[in-house]
Amino acid sequence: MNKLAIGIDIGGTNTDIGLVNPDGKVLQRRGLKTQEYDDSDRYIHDMAEVVRALMVENGLTEVGGVGIGAPNAHFDTGCIGANTANLRMKEEIPLCEKLSALLGLPVTLSNDADAAAIGEHIYGGAKLMQHFVTITLGTGVGSGIFVDGRLIHGHGCMAGELGHAIVNPLSDRLCSCGRKGCLEMYASARGICQTYREEAAKGELPDHFKSAELTCKDVGEMAVAGDPLALKTYDTTAYWLAIGMANAASFCSPEAFFLMGGPTRAGEALLRPLRRYFAENLLYIYKDRISIQLSELQANDAAVLGAAALIHLK
Ligand SMILES: [Zn+2]
Repeated sequence: MNKLAIGIDIGGTNTDIGLVNPDGKVLQRRGLKTQEYDDSDRYIHDMAEVVRALMVENGLTEVGGVGIGAPNAHFDTGCIGANTANLRMKEEIPLCEKLSALLGLPVTLSNDADAAAIGEHIYGGAKLMQHFVTITLGTGVGSGIFVDGRLIHGHGCMAGELGHAIVNPLSDRLCSCGRKGCLEMYASARGICQTYREEAAKGELPDHFKSAELTCKDVGEMAVAGDPLALKTYDTTAYWLAIGMANAASFCSPEAFFLMGGPTRAGEALLRPLRRYFAENLLYIYKDRISIQLSELQANDAAVLGAAALIHLK
């Protein structure tokens, strides 16, 4: 589609709304504070107002449509499911139907991890690829799977929960899903911080290592600076991520994995051990056939681009 599109990324804290061209450039963006809303009708109304404002300010009378990436989103029904973690609006939200009615535009909704995969396919490093997996490392671990040139939705649109693949059944790390040893418990920001604390607890701790305020960004920056504990943390992170990726490779045979999200800013501190552990654990038939790359989407724009790609894919 050779038109501008609106991409909306719904996060627990912020809702980013951007005007995106077909080349994957965010021309203008606005935001809403998601946490301020406990009423979905008011939320959708304000979202529509922002979309209209973006169109008016850019002299547009029409756009190709509105693509939305959100947690707990159901592509088939166009709804955000009830009781979504991190949203104050706890009822099921029929977002596509209501926003489309307000704007008179087509609205498409997808799981945020799936939207990221579509974004990589339309604008990023996976442009010519038929088979690939994107893995988003952040508060959680999400994944989107393309096979034979198509995004895999699965029964109930719940395919691609790689973050909840159990990679370490002997782990005592309890996941938000109620089980132990999920990939998310090792490769999410929270998991990385926990690994760091566990590694640090083995030795004599300088005060700042004890801080409850320690963030994954801190650990990443320390790793880039060559801090041995942080590098060990990323080595452990890479090990469990590689196990999850090697298993994923066995059931969908991708050409590449694309990694995105905050923890990937550690760069080679993550990628070097990841490539080694992946090669060590990969079934031999895939040897040297699968690349591991960082996403080519600009970090700040990735989610909005992914959402807009839902429209540009059509
Ligand atoms: Zn889990």
